[in-house]
Amino acid sequence: MTLDEKIGQMSQSTSMGHSISEAIKAEIRAGRWGSFLNAGNAGDRAEAQRIALKESRLGIPLLFGRDVIHGYQTVFPIPLGQAASWDPGLVEQAAHIAARETAADGIHWTFAPMVDIARDPRWGRIAEGMGEDPYLGSAMAAAMVRGFQGKALDGPESIAACVKHYVGYGAAEGGRDYNTTWIPEILLRDVYLRPFHAARDAGAATFMSAFNDLNGVPASGNKLTLRQVLREEWKFDGFVVSDWDSVIEMISHGYAAGRADAALKAIQAGVDMEMVSTSYRENVKSLIETGKLDAKLVDESVRNILRVKLRLGLFDKPVPAAPAASAFLAPDALAIAERLAAESAVLLKNDGGALPLSKSISKVAVVGPLADSAVDQMGCWVADGKAAAVRTPVAALRSLLGAARVAYAPGLKSSRDTSTAGFAAAVEATRGADAVVLFLGEEQVLSGEAHSRAFLGLPGAQEALVGELAKTGKPLVAVIMAGRPLTFPAVSSKVKAVLYAWHPGTMGGPALASLLFGDAAPSGKLTASFPRTVGQVPVYYNHMNTGRPPSASELGIPMGTPLDPKDFTSKYLDVDFTPEYPFGFGLSYTTFEYTNLRLSAGPVHMGGHLTVTADVANTGSREADEVAQLYIRDLVASVTQPVRELKGFQRVHLKAGEKRVVEFTLSTADLAFHNRQMQLVTEPGEFHVWIGPDSARGQRGSFRVTD
Ligand code: BGC
Repeated sequence: MTLDEKIGQMSQSTSMGHSISEAIKAEIRAGRWGSFLNAGNAGDRAEAQRIALKESRLGIPLLFGRDVIHGYQTVFPIPLGQAASWDPGLVEQAAHIAARETAADGIHWTFAPMVDIARDPRWGRIAEGMGEDPYLGSAMAAAMVRGFQGKALDGPESIAACVKHYVGYGAAEGGRDYNTTWIPEILLRDVYLRPFHAARDAGAATFMSAFNDLNGVPASGNKLTLRQVLREEWKFDGFVVSDWDSVIEMISHGYAAGRADAALKAIQAGVDMEMVSTSYRENVKSLIETGKLDAKLVDESVRNILRVKLRLGLFDKPVPAAPAASAFLAPDALAIAERLAAESAVLLKNDGGALPLSKSISKVAVVGPLADSAVDQMGCWVADGKAAAVRTPVAALRSLLGAARVAYAPGLKSSRDTSTAGFAAAVEATRGADAVVLFLGEEQVLSGEAHSRAFLGLPGAQEALVGELAKTGKPLVAVIMAGRPLTFPAVSSKVKAVLYAWHPGTMGGPALASLLFGDAAPSGKLTASFPRTVGQVPVYYNHMNTGRPPSASELGIPMGTPLDPKDFTSKYLDVDFTPEYPFGFGLSYTTFEYTNLRLSAGPVHMGGHLTVTADVANTGSREADEVAQLYIRDLVASVTQPVRELKGFQRVHLKAGEKRVVEFTLSTADLAFHNRQMQLVTEPGEFHVWIGPDSARGQRGSFRVTD
């Protein structure tokens, strides 16, 4: 390969639009681009690939990438919602459907999964990830990679995954997107890197380097994370693409003196392909000629890229010019989308069994700006989602109950609408209704990239709308669609039930209708703690204990004094120290009881394992799924450890009255953390272990690990 051809492979562009220009065709022929993102339509892609394969000197295929974050035309719940299903098998199936639809359209590569741990709901991109926990995040990351990539990367329904944003991006200061991150290496390794490692172990073909400044070295120029951890420690042999312009943004970060310096630092750190900006194209040649850049690094990057193109089978694969319409939104795709939307919804409150509603009620009033908003229901990052295919709650409830029994008035035009002009019609809709279902939350545009918020309340006049409806005395239930954990105490206090639906995607309407009317029971559990107020952020379950932890006796507003310092603990004066809803929390239409925690006998020798079991009983009157969770705490260690850490979970289906044993195996390797020498170690000592319904409850036992 000539140096120009090599640089071409390392360059990815957005410049291939619909009806490819002659200039771009000439550049493809000359081997000046290795990849395009968001390129044209299927016909354009087929034509461009034909030119690359047949008319370029070496016949190296192009790689077409796109953001297929939670579905292509069939849109699944936002990833934060998918994670709340705690059902990696189903999440894998959804990713496979997304890959099948994407591949049918001649696209080879998705910029997903996003596996950034996020502990700050102000950050708009919390919607795109799996929440705050590295264990759950790892399970979901691996499931998505398996789903996208299938059994073989060159299969007809497989696309390459791109694990992003490597790394630490979710820890942006103040939840402001693109902001600085300072993450001590122990925390980086024990929390932020773990889902990436799991994705690499699941065979992820590519990684994306992030925008953030990580401990003073931008993630797209970071040798520690890109060369040492990813390549040397994890033996990753795919390729790394930068994020959009993240190479040249190292100039704004104050880390590169100009575009040539940025290119040099990115390549030296191990960023193989540059997305959108063109500093590689402009500078690699002179960087080599002047002896600043070792040509071997360029060869290495090109090899990494070609290896993935070979694995994808692109040298032999024809690109479909016009996919059949039946490739998209197929019945099995919609069925999985509906199941995942149902499993991802989390029941946060259900006073007096207000839900499910009875199908024999004479009339239901449906109110709220998100009851019939196809675009908002899909959530952020849906470049190819089809609003016309979305089944909204209004449509689904009409088909379930008959249109005559559904009175619909949105009350507000959008979630941000501050006008009360629609309130009277909303109140009118409740006349003769036995129940009122409110669809509240956040519009699509309030979460996602560069869409952070400083307030976590329901925007617009939604609280006022609920206040008006409460005056009717009718029983109210709220369904909240949102891209993040929100705070909504004024609404909670006026409604009997709250079902948190995230942005549930194409089939959200039918899924919610089945949950509301009892054809399915909610089984989702939170994967991000819900704060009581934005002032508590960050609030996450796997925190350290501190030297002065607050205790249950300090709920309410304790006021210690210097003379009586019993309440001088780590908390606020004006809000409980606990979150509104803890990690792992979610109610059902039935009740579950955990009893009889048992541990396999004796101390566990280093290298050995133990079995932890508990009985889970369905003590209510209907069948449902429960997600049983296993947590541990390492009581004393050379580096302080979190008060609880998730180490296992199981989704079990229990009939009314049924009792089942859930069994978990923990090896001493599962208890490992990074010590100050950055070695992954398990230290002997005492551990607590819980099996329970969420991170705040459970049956507790203890065991010792011995040398
Ligand atoms: C985002 C990435 C995305 C890329 C390509 C960037 O702005 O941070 O997540 O994959 O654009 O669209």
